[in-house]
Amino acid sequence: DRHPEPQFEPDPTKKTLVILGTGWGSVALLKKLDTENYNVVVVSPRNYFLFTPLLPSCTTGTIEHRSIMEPVRTILRHKKAAVKFYEAEASSIDPDRKVIKIVDNSEIQGATSETEIPYDMLVIGVGAENATFGIPGVREHSCFLKEIGDAQQIRKKIMDCVETAAFKGQTSDEIDRLMHMVVVGGGPTGVEFAGELQDFFEEDIKKLVPEISPRFKVTLIEALPNVLPSFSKQLIDYTENTFREEKIDIKTKTMVKRVTDTTVEAEVSRPDGGKERVVIPYGLLVWATGNAVRPIVKDLITKIPAQKDSRRGLAVNEYLVVQGTRDIWAIGDCAVAGYAPTAQVASQEGNFLGRLFNNMAKTENHESRIQELSSKMNLQAGNSAEAAHEIESLEKQLRRIKDIKPFRYSHQGSLAYIGSEKAVADVSWWNGNLATGGSLTYLFWRSAYLSMCFSTRNRVLVILDWLKSKAFGRDVSRE
Ligand code: FAD
Ligand code: NAD
Repeated sequence: DRHPEPQFEPDPTKKTLVILGTGWGSVALLKKLDTENYNVVVVSPRNYFLFTPLLPSCTTGTIEHRSIMEPVRTILRHKKAAVKFYEAEASSIDPDRKVIKIVDNSEIQGATSETEIPYDMLVIGVGAENATFGIPGVREHSCFLKEIGDAQQIRKKIMDCVETAAFKGQTSDEIDRLMHMVVVGGGPTGVEFAGELQDFFEEDIKKLVPEISPRFKVTLIEALPNVLPSFSKQLIDYTENTFREEKIDIKTKTMVKRVTDTTVEAEVSRPDGGKERVVIPYGLLVWATGNAVRPIVKDLITKIPAQKDSRRGLAVNEYLVVQGTRDIWAIGDCAVAGYAPTAQVASQEGNFLGRLFNNMAKTENHESRIQELSSKMNLQAGNSAEAAHEIESLEKQLRRIKDIKPFRYSHQGSLAYIGSEKAVADVSWWNGNLATGGSLTYLFWRSAYLSMCFSTRNRVLVILDWLKSKAFGRDVSRE
């Protein structure tokens, strides 16, 4: 169905709905939304949707990055009515004037790179940024794992470390440092990345650079007493045991305090309650300590008195309306609705808003039709029976449409890949809970993630990448 993109002409009789972001929340909303009801405008610095669950696999080349991206323009082309997309960052929101300011921060800019967009309704789905807790050196020296560019940078750095370690006459201490891959944060991001990295080593690096490969080491540092705090005890133990077998060194109760270009300085809590300072040399450092609030969200919080106690994001009510506002909704990692910041929550919230907005538009249409019919009835008594009948039916439909239940999250379970073809899963199964780990779970992980991919194109590309890296090994060229 390769029809041309419908032209966008703002209709003055319709409300303008501005959606910020092209992540899990906003794209789920766009998928569900009947775009004919509003003048829809999407603003995001990223002109694609990113399937984050497979991002750790891109850091080692198990999957190529473009296989998990879907261009937003392709997504919008399939909507019934045209949607306007601007590749830009929203830099501020003015809830009193109902306008947002947008800035094109990309490499290429035209004569105009900053402007304002008015809205009647605004949805904020800008996600979160990486938490660093202000720890010195983190921003300058470590890699994050959130965006496509991060995964590409890590992939390049791993091979740079390996090639530099293999340099003629490299000193022994330097080889150990360069071959030491340190991951900070034992949440699912850190765990999945450590697992992927160890796979890369076992399946490829070992064969390609056998002379230095015994020096390759992955260390996972976590401040709390265990990794994967949100998983069940049984799966935490399973993950920690698997990591031990894979020779991934887990350092728990170890809080990083400072980072330099070659070392991580951490405070270790000893069993006797004392604290010890350790210095760990590294070649590659990946920082995965969770989410922080984006500046645009922080700025909006200061403008809304009802948000004065919001610390982790915009507090929303059960219909995802930002508390203290009437026409602003927030979804996903930037919203605080009482759920974890996951893709599952964000996409269910987006989907809910899509249905809510479709219903709101239907309600308005029905109400204005009822008004039109009532005034006609008053004018021409002859047709009143027919009109009264239509009004009755419309009112019946209205009662059903208006009865929108508040948002309720339905947890489908948690899944994480832990390396050596093993995964852990906490899933709800017929009212019970199933906590499982192992190779069968890994097959389940693969099929679950495949089914969640955005499009058939993504699915096919991911399968081909898996087959390709299995058959020929990962591509270690450092582009
Ligand atoms: P995002 O998906 O982060 O999207 C935010 C969007 O807003 C982006 O398009 C961004 O470019 C845009 N944006 C940013 N700033 C602005 C601005 N100023 N103006 C306009 N637009 C802006 N969750 C799971 O449930 N299962 C998993 O397996 C899983 N795996 C993950 C693996 C990794 C490596 C990571 C990092 C996260 C993972 N998550 C997973 C978490 C999940 O990705 C997030 O919870 C989810 O992306 C949140 O969706 P969102 O729409 O709120 O934000
Ligand atoms: P997280 O918040 O889940 O974990 C971060 C970890 O870093 C915490 O355990 C914290 O104790 C630790 N930490 C913080 N500061 C530290 C320091 N200075 N030194 C050492 N350790 C420190 O972060 P995440 O893993 O990036 O996940 C973010 C969100 O995305 C979560 O909601 C998660 O569930 C979701 N996610 C899910 C999956 C999955 O389901 N497979 C994968 C990735 C992310």
